[in-house]
Amino acid sequence: ATTGSKNFQKPRDKLLGGLLDAEFDESSCLSRYQSSLYRKPSPYKPSRYLISKLRSYETLHKRCGPGTEAYKRSVKLLDQEELASSSDELCQYIVWVPLAGLGNRILSLVSVFLYALLTDRVMLVDQRNDISDLFCEPFPGTSWLLPLDFPLTNQLDRFHWHSPRSYGNMLKHHVINYSTTERFPSYFYLHLVYNYGAYDQMFFCEGDQSLIKKVPWLIVKSDNYFIPFLWLSFQTRLIKLFPQKETIFHHLARYLINPTNQVWGLVNRFYNAYLSRADERLGIQVRVFHRAKSLKLVMDQIVSCTQGEKLLPEAEAAQEESQVMMNVSKTPKLKAVLVTSLNPDYSNNLKSLYWEGLSSTGDVIGVYQPSQEMHQLRNNKLHNQKALAEMYLLSLTDNIVTSAWSTFGYVAQGLGGLKPWILYKPVNYTTPDPPCGRAMSMEPCFHSPPPFNVCGTETWKRIVPFVKPCEDRVSGVKLF
Ligand code: GDP
Repeated sequence: ATTGSKNFQKPRDKLLGGLLDAEFDESSCLSRYQSSLYRKPSPYKPSRYLISKLRSYETLHKRCGPGTEAYKRSVKLLDQEELASSSDELCQYIVWVPLAGLGNRILSLVSVFLYALLTDRVMLVDQRNDISDLFCEPFPGTSWLLPLDFPLTNQLDRFHWHSPRSYGNMLKHHVINYSTTERFPSYFYLHLVYNYGAYDQMFFCEGDQSLIKKVPWLIVKSDNYFIPFLWLSFQTRLIKLFPQKETIFHHLARYLINPTNQVWGLVNRFYNAYLSRADERLGIQVRVFHRAKSLKLVMDQIVSCTQGEKLLPEAEAAQEESQVMMNVSKTPKLKAVLVTSLNPDYSNNLKSLYWEGLSSTGDVIGVYQPSQEMHQLRNNKLHNQKALAEMYLLSLTDNIVTSAWSTFGYVAQGLGGLKPWILYKPVNYTTPDPPCGRAMSMEPCFHSPPPFNVCGTETWKRIVPFVKPCEDRVSGVKLF
């Protein structure tokens, strides 16, 4: 990269405190080792136990990955409906099937990966959509792509909570009984989607995990960041892996989510053209879930949040210009504001505000928006690549303002290790007061958790100290 970035001169921690393996060919995935050129070193260090767990996972994945004898042996088990005994030597797997928007996908992918780490399973990903256009292979010397000739490929799209092999459905209809069963299925489908039911949610409980443990293949669909509820069954290991529990997504996402060279090109070119020379960078992620007629409402909210929190200066009316110009500091700072949104209006308005008015501090404000796609699309390669590039760009800023409820923003804040200012959701078409608030942690919100007592009140009491209702959604929970 040719860049004017001042960060280039600094000594850098290319392997992110040991999170990344040094074994990769750098050119195959430039983002993996180059992200440290663009981002300040994270103040959060991965634990030794996490680092050794990742290295041993990589060894396991190499031994059991697609194409290996071990993989073939485990695939053969799928010929049988039921198995009589489990063998410790056989590799076990969890297959991630993508669902919903890119932010949701990344949250569930990271959740499934942590579950794989905790249960010594190998994570494979359904590659029929655009996964390999977006993310580099994360594990050295092997592949995470589920081979296209996997025997259940044709069924993946049809799996749902009511499927005969859905774990919840089998529990509900007493097809399995985890206290007595001698035989168990060769695979389960796990439905961890917002519309799941009480039986699907039993997945999170310890007793259920001891049955699920025996089953060699799991297929999972999820649109949620379900890690907070993994504390119900895996608390001891989680505390060891993540002594700072609010860093789980931050570490795992920086390990797992490395944009492909094509996406990295989008990040790189934009960063160097508009952001690298600024003294300070502010990211504003605007995601509007309510009707477009509220443009003014959202704009007022953005302005009162960023100015009220001193993230941006006030813009003075033009007639006071001479006076303000006399008073401003001698060396004005250049502040670059990166706005991401499907809609171009917010950044256009902000740009006008600081062109037509004069900033009260004299700081120079540049406003930039990479794309304006207007509508959310699914399975469109360039659209998704731009979305990933923008999440990544937001994560490279110094401060970030995000929109309530948006998983797109969660990914950006987590990658960047940033505690966002959250623009609260407007109620009854009025600007909320206060317009925004600082998040208590950079962890994503688990939007659709099961009821707290899903595994009994006593179990719940054990995790109460670790979770709180989300700032932007009281029915959700997050680690803090
Ligand atoms: P959420 O719906 O806000 O939780 O985030 P998701 O990422 O799951 O889904 C929203 C999808 O809409 C994204 O994946 C993009 O496809 C698109 N999208 C939303 N906001 C933006 C944006 O600011 N920039 C781009 N490029 N795409 C966006």
